[in-house]
Amino acid sequence: MARVELRNLCKVFPGGVQAVKEANLVIEDKEFVVLVGPSGCGKSTTLRMVAGLEEISSGEIYIDGVLVNDVPPKNRDIAMVFQNYALYPHMTVYKNMAFGLILRKFKKKEIDERVRKAAEILGITELLDRRPKALSGGQRQRVAVGRAIVRQPKVFLFDEPLSNLDAKLRVQMRAEISKLHQRLRSTMIYVTHDQVEAMTMGDRIVVMLDGIIQQVATPLELYHHPVNKFVAGFIGSPPMNMINGTLYAQNGNVRFRDDSSTIDLIVPEGKRSKLESHLNKRVTIGIRPEDLNENASQTPKPGISIQAPVEVVEPMGSEINLYIAIGKQSATARIKSDREPEINKPLVLDVTMGNVHFFDLESELTLV
Ligand code: ATP
Repeated sequence: MARVELRNLCKVFPGGVQAVKEANLVIEDKEFVVLVGPSGCGKSTTLRMVAGLEEISSGEIYIDGVLVNDVPPKNRDIAMVFQNYALYPHMTVYKNMAFGLILRKFKKKEIDERVRKAAEILGITELLDRRPKALSGGQRQRVAVGRAIVRQPKVFLFDEPLSNLDAKLRVQMRAEISKLHQRLRSTMIYVTHDQVEAMTMGDRIVVMLDGIIQQVATPLELYHHPVNKFVAGFIGSPPMNMINGTLYAQNGNVRFRDDSSTIDLIVPEGKRSKLESHLNKRVTIGIRPEDLNENASQTPKPGISIQAPVEVVEPMGSEINLYIAIGKQSATARIKSDREPEINKPLVLDVTMGNVHFFDLESELTLV
């Protein structure tokens, strides 16, 4: 059992930087929760406060209902895997993994069993006699994870553990850590700035910006129902297209016209009532690249189609990313096509209007 709870957690560094502001979060037993956000958003500081490596300015942290604010790191029953692995260079892999247990005065037999079991899980048994300098980045990463596993902690904390690996290895280790979570069924908190890592690994994702938790949700909930423009733009690749314009009423319809009058779309009936308060006001709409589809006959449909010149074509294999110009603004469309559209020629694209997001221009909160 390990449930982690943050209550009104704050961190102010000497000098006045407010790294974490009033964070409230419950991480359930056995959950894999990812903290994600741009550099400097406070995710590492939050994790380090859970580990006990950073003093808490105000607020509380509970592990299984016990207040741990004043419990030293070694007594929190937590193991942390760092970005730089933090292995002891003069010790063998075996000793690196065993060291924490030796310090805790575990019996030799127990230590041996735990180290060999962890090595087997991670596929590093044949490396046990080597020293870290004789290992590849991926192997060092496994040893660092192994050192956490042998402790059998209540909670695993990972701070950007894959960022020193090349792209291919990162994808492989991502899947291995997910498998490890399924096998160990422990509570895991994982920090990354990479939204793809967050989306593929997390049971739930915590999106942070400027020290503030913006949204806590499952990956698909975040993708389909972001609470604000920041979350909408941060989650998804290529990112959501954000277009400013005005909502207006015409012939019983609510329509959206962008600032350059390049596009004029009819808002679907289901979304109208929530937008009525914003009629004749400027708003931002968000269209995901996959919600711009090539119109098969290239015949524009009023209120649904947009016509935009193609600036760049990026064939991705199964799909094509198109960079198009909407007025002075560039937007991305991800289309399925077996032919490449011509550059500088206008292309008719249909917008999946049911999936379009609307944001208040000032507060940037989702309207519908
Ligand atoms: P990154 O992905 O770059 O590691 P992060 O989201 O993990 O970023 P934190 O490392 O938690 O961000 O830092 C949050 C804020 O606190 C930043 O503005 C950072 O400059 C500041 N900060 C972090 N550590 C200290 C420190 N020891 N003293 C002063 N300010 C700090």
